[in-house]
Amino acid sequence: MTSLPVTVATSQSLLAPYAVRDSNSRSRAHREPAPTYRSEFQRDRDRIIHSGAFRRLEYKTQVFVNHEGDLFRTRLTHSIEVAQIARAIARTLALNEDLTEAIALAHDLGHTPFGHAGQDALNACMKDHGGFEHNLQSLRVVDELEERYADFTGLNLMFETREGILKHCAPAKAAELGELGRRFLDKRQPSLEAQLTNLADEIAYNSHDVDDGLRSGLIGLEQLREIELFAEHHEAVARSYPELPARRVIHEVVRRMIGQQVGDLVETSIARIRAAAPADLEAVRAQDEALIAYSDSMRERNLELKRFLRTNLYRHYRVHRMSGKARQVIESLFEAFFGDPRLLPDKAQQQVRLLAETQGEAGRARAVADYIAGMTDRYAITEYERVYNPRELT
Ligand code: MG
Repeated sequence: MTSLPVTVATSQSLLAPYAVRDSNSRSRAHREPAPTYRSEFQRDRDRIIHSGAFRRLEYKTQVFVNHEGDLFRTRLTHSIEVAQIARAIARTLALNEDLTEAIALAHDLGHTPFGHAGQDALNACMKDHGGFEHNLQSLRVVDELEERYADFTGLNLMFETREGILKHCAPAKAAELGELGRRFLDKRQPSLEAQLTNLADEIAYNSHDVDDGLRSGLIGLEQLREIELFAEHHEAVARSYPELPARRVIHEVVRRMIGQQVGDLVETSIARIRAAAPADLEAVRAQDEALIAYSDSMRERNLELKRFLRTNLYRHYRVHRMSGKARQVIESLFEAFFGDPRLLPDKAQQQVRLLAETQGEAGRARAVADYIAGMTDRYAITEYERVYNPRELT
């Protein structure tokens, strides 16, 4: 057998002293032998890609419901765009690119069908049983719900990958999460890799929602030209390329928006890291504030765009109509399955029994919520038809 080139040690030796690496990681809950030709975080990324929840992202909504058009972003393409942006930033800052990729690809695994409308509906259904929050659910997916490995439940990911997935957490929940929740109680920071992936998520959705919003016709160019972050680039592109077809203008503008935000984030973060001069990862965690950040003016521009998208896209009446239907599907499914778990497929019934044995009614509700949260948009609609439409044979 020929020996493999040792690339793992080389790439990790190029990292900044405060980057996460295999050697300073808090490792996995279940001890495993170290991988032979990958880093620990490459292994995490690979496990995420091979998970069932990751494949289902293809048919989960970002803003537009899956069947509305093949060109719009889904959770899967969104997650890949986040990974792309996060990796570029990580490499520039000599941080652990594999870790940022793993966090990015996993960060939305806990999303319900139908985007935020679905999550709000499921949270309302769960209000007497501990609530539902997609971010916590992403962690639950990788820690408990994926069943693929012989030796452990979940994906047994590295501490830092799980830390990055858990972006925010209410104090009461944080107290239940042990070491992983402690930073929310002690007001400490996560790794720089987690911080930057969080912002890469924002850069990705702000930019692609502009693109999808324009393509769908729900928002117009005239409206967007009032928004600084868009207007500046739009003017420049229109001036330099007066003959360019409209779609190409938009792509060029969105591309420049992403580039400018990434550039600002990198420059500002380098200055902040230099000023704070953290000696190692522990020093990053002990900071009062995140070291990865936009400049003040870019944060303002970002907020302006976010507000615009909230008012004009996420609350557009056509999105709102779909949200109303999504709510109805989720609420109806929850009511049916919680009221009579025998309506569930065998595997989900087993889960209900298992969680009900240890946690009573809250456990029964949680198992139903897990089942619903795992559905794709179209599966949820099909299940709704099967449960409620008497003409539908199941
Ligand atoms: Mg996201």
